[in-house]
Amino acid sequence: MKDGQLLIFDGAAKPLRLVRMEVPKLNPAEILVKNTYTTLCGSDLHTFCGKRNEKTPTVLGHEIVGIISEIGESHSHLDFNGEALKVGDRVTWAVFVAPPQEIWINKGMPQKSDHLFKYGHAQIKGDDVFHGGLGDFTVLKEHTAIFKLPENLPTAIAATINCAVATVAGAMRLAGSVKGKTVLVTGMGLLGNLAVAMAKVQGAKEIIAVDITEAKLEQAKRFGAMHTYLIDHIKADHKVDVALEMSGAPEAAELGLEMLCIGGIAVWVGAVFKTRKIEIDAEQVIRNIITIKGLHNYNFEDLRYALKFMTDHHQDFPFDEMIEKEFPLAEATKAFEYALQHKPLRVGIYIDELK
Ligand SMILES: [Zn+2]
Repeated sequence: MKDGQLLIFDGAAKPLRLVRMEVPKLNPAEILVKNTYTTLCGSDLHTFCGKRNEKTPTVLGHEIVGIISEIGESHSHLDFNGEALKVGDRVTWAVFVAPPQEIWINKGMPQKSDHLFKYGHAQIKGDDVFHGGLGDFTVLKEHTAIFKLPENLPTAIAATINCAVATVAGAMRLAGSVKGKTVLVTGMGLLGNLAVAMAKVQGAKEIIAVDITEAKLEQAKRFGAMHTYLIDHIKADHKVDVALEMSGAPEAAELGLEMLCIGGIAVWVGAVFKTRKIEIDAEQVIRNIITIKGLHNYNFEDLRYALKFMTDHHQDFPFDEMIEKEFPLAEATKAFEYALQHKPLRVGIYIDELK
């Protein structure tokens, strides 16, 4: 029997608990992954500080990369792209899994399936404990969409694919083609910078970045933003075709709506927590034929695009400045505190070989 370390989260304001537990025997359709690297996503930080509630005890961390350590005998031994999987392969996987359900697959929203399980979010029950990035292992459940990672992709960069990058890929899908268009991105955290980078690759004519700090705007320029503004300094008469809202701030969503030209599309991604209600001028929405779309998580095609985007373009943008600081698993509490205090794009947790 194998055992591995886990950092258990018992609720906000409680220290993470490092424990050692036995890895349960795999079900025949499951895969066991030795986690090697996890990046802390905004939602991990929100849960850690109590801005968002998760059933506890749980194991946080869902932006994960790992190495396959065991494959159940009835697993197809194929990844989502149809590539052969074997022990030793470096992989990432969709943050959610559910038994395939036609109704949600046909809607293009598998992330809203019934009986959904989310890695890095689920409550620990019995021996079902290895399902987060802040531990030595993840047991990948049956039907998990797994993706083998190309060798040239640095592990720390690859870790962000299954949440941040895939979510932005979903936002770009909902926005439609941005070729030759003017794109506004509000909120220059990792999602905002990824949106700028994707808009650039997809041929946007103008990319405008908005944030509340100068330092974030300087960084956005390095990811391809052509014009940058502090939110209080931008004039709404500057018109845009697409407004991507990544910050969650109601005033940013309102600014985006105000700036949309005729036929414009707003995609809202950031507000995954309670905010005040947003003011919408119905007459403006009607007369300007405006579309507002919301996006939570992503679908499998978005994740596939995210992997391809990072494989093809990780060297075209300064993704090496994305991870501001790295911590070993045992010091993950410090990583959360650092991330909350300094607000870097990401902090990384490296998970050593088993001793
Ligand atoms: Zn996330």
